[in-house]
Amino acid sequence: MERDGKIRVRFAPSPTGHLHVGGARTALFNWLFARHAGGTFILRIEDTDRSRSTEEYEASIHDAMRWLGLDWDEGPEVGGPHGPYRQTERTDLYRAAANRLLEEGKAYRCTCTSEELEARRKEAEARKVPFRYDGRCRNKGEVPGRPFALRLRIPDEGTVAVDDVLRGRVEFPNRDLDDWIVLRSDGTPTYNFCVVVDDVEMRISHVIRGDDHLSNTPKQVHLFHAFGHPLPFFAHVPMILGADRTRLSKRHASTAVVAYRDEGYLPEAMVNYFVRLSWSAGDQELFTLQELVSKFTLEAVGKSAAVFNPEK
Ligand code: GLU
Ligand code: ZN
Repeated sequence: MERDGKIRVRFAPSPTGHLHVGGARTALFNWLFARHAGGTFILRIEDTDRSRSTEEYEASIHDAMRWLGLDWDEGPEVGGPHGPYRQTERTDLYRAAANRLLEEGKAYRCTCTSEELEARRKEAEARKVPFRYDGRCRNKGEVPGRPFALRLRIPDEGTVAVDDVLRGRVEFPNRDLDDWIVLRSDGTPTYNFCVVVDDVEMRISHVIRGDDHLSNTPKQVHLFHAFGHPLPFFAHVPMILGADRTRLSKRHASTAVVAYRDEGYLPEAMVNYFVRLSWSAGDQELFTLQELVSKFTLEAVGKSAAVFNPEK
């Protein structure tokens, strides 16, 4: 499959909390990038973790995005043209994609039980080596009557490369990855699997997200290859730190965007501040949203961590 040159990006929050400062910056960068290029900005709610996702948080994320002025395009057939997409409404798609990989031999049935895997994990721990699934079911095939998970076949040797717009080429040795599970034995798809199935199906051209996801990227790249789909461009945006230079959390300041709204801050000020956390254009400090749309480029996003200063 060829790239068609269309700019399509997504913001993919998990509704397990309010939209926080880091998420807002990621949403903004995606939105600005799409609007600058006349592309498409998709909102995709990653709600497959049913134990932690709530409708209240999803609604709160919508509110925060609307307040900031970040409108999204497109949506599922059902429920109107303006989305968002919800992963829990797309389970059939994930199962079908997993079965296709199985038929093509790119994924295989693993009949190891969770007790067996747990025992092996403990054993690795006792030997102080990282636990990795050893691939023992790779050539086993179906075992009648035994439930199975589907695992992706990953080469034992070699490396996988990620060309990141901000960091350049990053390589990961395959021996550090294992044949990860794409579909659990209860038929539910895993997090990394849903992300890639959606990025393929939604024809995402650029994956712009926080660099806390960089460790997922090599696993995901293998899956793009298994689907025979060209890689999107990746841009992993450096994380946001608190004043003491540890990862920003509630200890440092309110991190929920709606809390700033409720305190009476103006959305224009917040947008300006979030963008300026890790993007600049000369010495200019204040920008209107329209100015940001016309000036925003990924190349001008900074490569080092940003410090969040609530005083500003
Ligand atoms: N759902 C993930 C999050 O909330 C984002 C996944 C992605 O952007 O690939 O952090
Ligand atoms: Zn197995």
